[in-house]
Amino acid sequence: MPPGKSPMPRRIIAGHDAAEAAQLSRRAALGHLIAAAGVATFGADPSRAQNASAPIGDASRLADMGMKLDPEQRAAGAAFLGRHASVDTHSHPGRFFLKDLPYETPTTRAFGEAFEDRAVADLYAGRVSGVLIAAVADMRLLEMTATAGLHAAREYQPGEAYADYQRQLAELKALVARHALAKGLNPSDIDSAQRHRRTAAVFAVEGGDFLEDRLDRVPEAFRDGVRAITVVHYHVNQIGDIQTEAPVHGGLTPLGKSIVGEMNRAGIIVDLAHATFAVTKDVLDVSTKPVMISHSNLATPAFSHPRLISSEHAKLVAAAGGIVGSWPSGIGQSTFADYIDSIRRLVDAVGIDHTAIGTDMDANYRPVLRSYRDWSLIPAALLARGMHDAEVAKIMGGNFLRVFKANLTR
Ligand SMILES: [Zn+2]
Ligand SMILES: [Zn+2]
Repeated sequence: MPPGKSPMPRRIIAGHDAAEAAQLSRRAALGHLIAAAGVATFGADPSRAQNASAPIGDASRLADMGMKLDPEQRAAGAAFLGRHASVDTHSHPGRFFLKDLPYETPTTRAFGEAFEDRAVADLYAGRVSGVLIAAVADMRLLEMTATAGLHAAREYQPGEAYADYQRQLAELKALVARHALAKGLNPSDIDSAQRHRRTAAVFAVEGGDFLEDRLDRVPEAFRDGVRAITVVHYHVNQIGDIQTEAPVHGGLTPLGKSIVGEMNRAGIIVDLAHATFAVTKDVLDVSTKPVMISHSNLATPAFSHPRLISSEHAKLVAAAGGIVGSWPSGIGQSTFADYIDSIRRLVDAVGIDHTAIGTDMDANYRPVLRSYRDWSLIPAALLARGMHDAEVAKIMGGNFLRVFKANLTR
């Protein structure tokens, strides 16, 4: 049961130490599970494979920056957040979706306890103006194997995905109420949160499984406050193919096409993270609104991975007015500085108007940004590397707000 409404998350921090020991052992378990999956899942980076004890996304502070920022540069990052709205285009703060979980899978067992109260305190402390908090639509199906990585072990029964969507949405609403997070229904909610030193929660769902074949669930999700749906995740669903499994549908399905049309009409952003290039092309053929890839990065000649995209793929999204959120997942990155390089590479490929920030906070394997308390280091580092204030403002939130507004405009 959520306790009474508390205006600021100060009190939240008190409770977290008690659970920390348990969390640490769970985290180690997940580390081993994922390490066992190893190279097959996370790419052939031998330096990472040897470092299985590195923390999983767990709200711990940055240890290895890989670059120097002096106190003035750090202060400039914090001051930047006082002037500009900043948005994380994809997040699962504290893995809220595990709260009071009524079932277990090997994956959820390994993830352990949710720590959403601590993560929300970090959002406030880090001065994040808007965050897309995503439910995980296919969570009940997922398992980690040594050969196939994270994948769906079975199919959903009718109604099962919808029931879990409703459960996670109720958790999300309770979380928002418990911490008096600002509502994030439109861009002005985020601008207002920035001005009032608050964080606006924008509801999102990772995976369109819960829609089943019911187009009426799209406007229903909008009424629930959902403003973005990552149409596919790790389960090959009714909508289209995914990056991490062999193609099944050959792109977007006919039902997927109808769902994209409904999302355009309802005002829900189509998020194409996890979608194949074929699905992306098919969606862009029919979408009347700009889309986003909320969390990915460019593959490079030196490093590729199924979850990374080609520059051709990213440019297609940009050409349609969309954005790509750069992802500090640790895939092809060892330090925070590597993440800053990922952002800069995206800017070079798609331009300053099409790059955003999508952390996937608290659901990453060895992320190079692990706490929202370090959020200001992103603008600090971009400014330190010579970007102008107005350019950094676009990356940190302006570009997302443009896409958000376009999707809400009839
Ligand atoms: Zn994802
Ligand atoms: Zn995610």
